[in-house]
Amino acid sequence: MTVKTRFAPSPTGYLHVGGARTALYSWLYAKSQGGEFVLRIEDTDLERNSQEAVDAIIEGMQWLGLEWNEGPYFQTQRFDRYNEMVDKLLAEDKAYKCYASKELLDEVRAEQEANKEMPRYDADHPKIKAANEAAKEGDPCVIRFRNPKEGSVVFEDQIRGRIEISNSQMDDLIIRRTDGSPTYNFCVVVDDWDMGITHVIRGEDHINNTPRQINIYKALGVTVPTFAHCAMILGDDGAKLSKRHGAVSVMQYRDMGYLPVALNNYLVRLGWSHGDQEIFSQEEMINLFSLNAISKSASAFNTDKLLWLNNHYIKTSDPEYVAEHLQWHLDQKGIKTENGPAITDVIKLVGERCNTLVELVEQIGYFYQDFDAFDADAAKKHLRGVAKQPLEVALAKVEALTEWTTEKLHQVIADVCTELEIGMGKIGMPLRVAVTGGGQSPSVDAVMQLIGKERVVARIKMALAFIAEREANA
Ligand code: GLU
Repeated sequence: MTVKTRFAPSPTGYLHVGGARTALYSWLYAKSQGGEFVLRIEDTDLERNSQEAVDAIIEGMQWLGLEWNEGPYFQTQRFDRYNEMVDKLLAEDKAYKCYASKELLDEVRAEQEANKEMPRYDADHPKIKAANEAAKEGDPCVIRFRNPKEGSVVFEDQIRGRIEISNSQMDDLIIRRTDGSPTYNFCVVVDDWDMGITHVIRGEDHINNTPRQINIYKALGVTVPTFAHCAMILGDDGAKLSKRHGAVSVMQYRDMGYLPVALNNYLVRLGWSHGDQEIFSQEEMINLFSLNAISKSASAFNTDKLLWLNNHYIKTSDPEYVAEHLQWHLDQKGIKTENGPAITDVIKLVGERCNTLVELVEQIGYFYQDFDAFDADAAKKHLRGVAKQPLEVALAKVEALTEWTTEKLHQVIADVCTELEIGMGKIGMPLRVAVTGGGQSPSVDAVMQLIGKERVVARIKMALAFIAEREANA
């Protein structure tokens, strides 16, 4: 049997990290079993759904790299199929028409509450029975599923273990509303069955729906899938993760400069473990993932750990991959890389210093854009009279260089120090401020090598002019 899983979001908003983790687990499980993964958009709630939300979910899934083998399916396009199945259950007397009005149901509920009974729909209640008997064909009605009265539903949740719910605790669920639209619990069952879903992996907020859905599977006479319900994600303060905790949408993580590999690695560990291993390549995740190693208890979000992982992936990923994701940030900043060093070389040099791509993009402007002023603090400290001679000597040597390599540039700096009998800092820092505009950068020889001779020469001259002007004004 081919394993088939699905992610079935309702398009009421963006793809949030909880949803993304559920999607990731479903995707990983399918991959780990050589199976398939389906994307299904549960868009039956017309009031709360929107096209923007559908687009946001798809964008988030694509950004995370969670490719689906089938779909996206849309429930709103399958109403005929659901109705066909509702009619089948009706014909088999496994469902029935209920004419009880909302007012009547409220009245019965109030009565039950007054009698300290569990408020529930009770088809045998004399008032409801009477209403149903009095109704004529064609009167407005809902269709209810005839839930078994005896026994219980038992299932083996892959995360939570054996779960048993007595049928006496479940009432006859509405499966088609008065307006003819089928309801959530029914559509999910028909879909999961039609789509051949073998494993339903979803949030534990659905655990109460599962026994109801299992009864529907049984009534339809079809195989019940295996279920796995994942625990919640909490914010670092222990409360349920929400907007209050900062970014919740997956795309906000892109905006904040995370790599999808880092977020996936973070999310997989948020509730799943393999010994105490923290870093998992995509391939390892797929090979090692298993449902029974998912934790039963809620997990708390930890931004520091996510940052640490992101730094790890910026440092160790193929620079081409980092470059692909950096492009969005470069575009945001209007940095064009055509007339400068290869972005992959810049990433190799600067990447390890950065926890996010936002930090990275902020540190590489000088490779591609000329500046018309130096950072005020850095200039004040390092572009002073004492730096004039070292910079002049360095400039002459740089101009004379025929081979533009990091080694030769390193030698230039060493020679300036020897010739003028000064320490490395006396030329290193002024040179850094001159060529980068600021006081922080990786090793200045490597930086100059990437910036290129023409720009380096022009910038040292600019620094000398700055010093001259400063001295003139002193
Ligand atoms: N559409 C449901 C939700 O977004 C998920 C249903 C399911 O996974 O069975 O919560």
